[in-house]
Amino acid sequence: MSRAPGPSRRSVQEAQMTHPNTESTAFRSALEVVRGVEPRVADAIGAELRDQRESLKLIASENYASPAVLLAMGNWLSDKYAEGTVGHRFYAGCRNVDTVEALAAEHARELFGARHAYVQPHSGIDANLVAFWSILAARVEAPALQRAGARQVNDLTEADWEELRRAFGNQRLLGMSLDAGGHLTHGFRPNISGKMFEQRSYGTDPETGLLDYDAVRATAREFRPLVIIAGYSAYPRLINFRLMREIADEVDATLMVDMAHFAGLVAGKVLTGDFDPVPHAQIVTTTTHKSLRGPRGGMVLCDDSLADQVDRGCPMVLGGPLPHVMAAKAVALAEARQPAFRDYAQRVVDNARALAEGLTRRGARLVTGGTDNHLVLLDVSGYGLTGRQAEAALLDAGIVTNRNAVPRDPNGAWYTSGVRLGTPALTTRGLGTAEMDEVAALIDGVLTRTAPGTTKSGKPSKASYVVAEGVAKQTADRAAELLAGHPLYPGLDLA
Ligand code: PLP
Repeated sequence: MSRAPGPSRRSVQEAQMTHPNTESTAFRSALEVVRGVEPRVADAIGAELRDQRESLKLIASENYASPAVLLAMGNWLSDKYAEGTVGHRFYAGCRNVDTVEALAAEHARELFGARHAYVQPHSGIDANLVAFWSILAARVEAPALQRAGARQVNDLTEADWEELRRAFGNQRLLGMSLDAGGHLTHGFRPNISGKMFEQRSYGTDPETGLLDYDAVRATAREFRPLVIIAGYSAYPRLINFRLMREIADEVDATLMVDMAHFAGLVAGKVLTGDFDPVPHAQIVTTTTHKSLRGPRGGMVLCDDSLADQVDRGCPMVLGGPLPHVMAAKAVALAEARQPAFRDYAQRVVDNARALAEGLTRRGARLVTGGTDNHLVLLDVSGYGLTGRQAEAALLDAGIVTNRNAVPRDPNGAWYTSGVRLGTPALTTRGLGTAEMDEVAALIDGVLTRTAPGTTKSGKPSKASYVVAEGVAKQTADRAAELLAGHPLYPGLDLA
């Protein structure tokens, strides 16, 4: 499956930077206009481009959107209110918003082979809220209305309404545990999903680190959830969604998949068959800004059984849509339908595998022993460090990562014992498998030469650390050299 790195093959962003002079003029002019009002904002925008160009970004949830995506967002579509859906708005004058929303939804349906697409959610959290409340509306509210002989909630008597409220609050959600790689929105207390649902988690096998479908089935049989959610922020392997649907059907649960992290791999047809959630789940949510390379935002795909409910996302849990972001989603989804995106998605996975192999070869310990997707979860306890110490030491050396709990993490969610590494962003810049091996060497080099520090009173600290003299600078210089061969937004000049 793995392809040889080819310096002659253009990266996805190079293929999209076809008019660098036009793009430079567009961004330069935009910044000049902003500078005329609040120069500090223009400066911060310029500085952010410099920072992004100069850092070796391995944050698994970040990427670089194309100039077309970025430019589609910065305009007067932002000024329009458009509550409702295409052709059915609560405001006048929405024909242009209708155009962009319909285009984004059409691209999403075609790209993912989905029956229905709802592109209004402002973020991944919002998309999940829309999904939860759509399931509750279809499976709890609709039967309650029918029993009461009412058409809508406003027709219910106070007593019926009380009963319905109690029924909402008694629903159950089964999702992946946080330390196995699940997300806060999958039923955890700090998020509203953990307050509105009674929640139970499934974890991973203690030996292999892999999802144990028999254990999921056993918990589902015992707990009888209304919703089973599959998807993750930090699980480095694939999920068999056919099996998850089988389990959901067995207990009459709705299968919801949150593909926020791996939507780009689904779009790029790297995840197909049992590993593509769209044919198997009744409802699929995603962000648009991670591996999918779009603007910050969310999206819901679903089958016919939930389409009407999902379209009521506004006003159910959302306010007016963001038309400028929907325009950018349409552009990003159009880009993801190009053949180059499949090549990009495959390279993301090849790069993650090369990074994992490079680390393993140097003696590093990885959760599950490797990766099948875009991310690697490095257990840094083998280096004698916490995730917090490793993250900070790597940042000093110009390598941007984020700390992350590992399964059954003794250091908890704040200090953690892991660092999550992802390849979508560096792959956009055009780095290939050979460079990933070098990135692995840089990471291992920094961590082997970092020692835990002590608190002011001399006790062992989980936060402070000491990197051996010269290592951070040497690594940062080499990282800069690597990046110089793969400039971010090549040809884009703000000077
Ligand atoms: N779902 C998953 C699996 C995620 O990893 C994230 C973000 O990290 C979200 C949802 C939330 O996305 P957003 O930050 O856009 O609300």
